[in-house]
Amino acid sequence: APRVFSGIQPSGNLTLGNYLGALRRWVEMQDEGIPTVYCVVDLHAITVWQDPEKLRNAIREVASAFLAIGLDPARSILFNQSQVSGHAELAWMFNCVARIGWMYRMTQFKDKTAGKNAENSSLGLLAYPSLMAADILLYHATHVPVGEDQKQHIELTRDIAAKFNHDYGVDFFPMTEPVIEGVATKVMSLRDGNKKMSKSDPSDMSRINLTDDADAIAAKIRKARTDPEPLPETVEGLAGRAEATNLVNIYAALAGTSAEAVVTEYAGQPFSVFKPALADLAVAHLGPITGQMQRYMADPAEIDRILGAGAEKAAAIADPILARTKEIIGLISSR
Ligand code: ATP
Ligand code: MG
Repeated sequence: APRVFSGIQPSGNLTLGNYLGALRRWVEMQDEGIPTVYCVVDLHAITVWQDPEKLRNAIREVASAFLAIGLDPARSILFNQSQVSGHAELAWMFNCVARIGWMYRMTQFKDKTAGKNAENSSLGLLAYPSLMAADILLYHATHVPVGEDQKQHIELTRDIAAKFNHDYGVDFFPMTEPVIEGVATKVMSLRDGNKKMSKSDPSDMSRINLTDDADAIAAKIRKARTDPEPLPETVEGLAGRAEATNLVNIYAALAGTSAEAVVTEYAGQPFSVFKPALADLAVAHLGPITGQMQRYMADPAEIDRILGAGAEKAAAIADPILARTKEIIGLISSR
């Protein structure tokens, strides 16, 4: 039976990249009537140090974004990872199945340790994909809507599932499929067209946050890096123009159209014309979401109640799968 799982880290402000690359698709899948399990992956966030007060707030902010974009706790299971202990338990078992070399090959680990001494990063940052495999497989999820950057981790999830099944001679964990669709599967930084937009980027000007107001959005788009050329006459003319391509793709994703259609509409126009149009479009889309998030954030007790109720529903699916996993491995789980 199909089941969707996905997660997002409370590691900073949610970005337009998170929204266009992942969150928007989550709502569609819920609305298609597929069973959906969506998680604030707080255990992933602490793979790099987080200020405890800010972390608590970020968990609630991500949960309020879930509600603001249209995820419904009556139809989707919404919870935070650390409240369902099976995630950490299964991750440990997968740590014993996955190989160290697999982890060193992950581009996210390389990106997140670039320019630093990788040996001095947390062991958790290296093992991150093993916990992610546990998140997904704890629910026997078949589909995971994510951005392009997570494709490699889903492939690793399949490798872990296959090795577990092979090592224990079972056909227990499914081969999960990534769902990576649309024109904005990899939104790039506004400061560097070759770097992914990320909520943990030290530069706030590199991203549009879901909590930014209209003035902030307009200022960030106005200052976004571009080349001096006007928009081309055709999409082929975007080749080699990473920043221009990124802005066109963002526009297309927000307008629900293709890059071709956007280039046709703005053919030969300078960025001084295109950027304000893009800012207006972004404000029109994000303004209502920001407003809703603020309303949910005003009642943290209600958010905590929703997350707690979601954790109970999540555990009801996870517990039998975890118990069966222990049995397969040879652990005694009855007491
Ligand atoms: P961090 O910098 O802390 O890793 P992040 O912005 O990468 O934060 P994650 O919580 O790691 O966010 O990822 C949540 C989801 O958003 C994932 O499905 C990921 O693929 C997607 N995503 C993240 N950044 C982008 C982006 N720039 N474009 C499209 N999708 C993205
Ligand atoms: Mg990330």
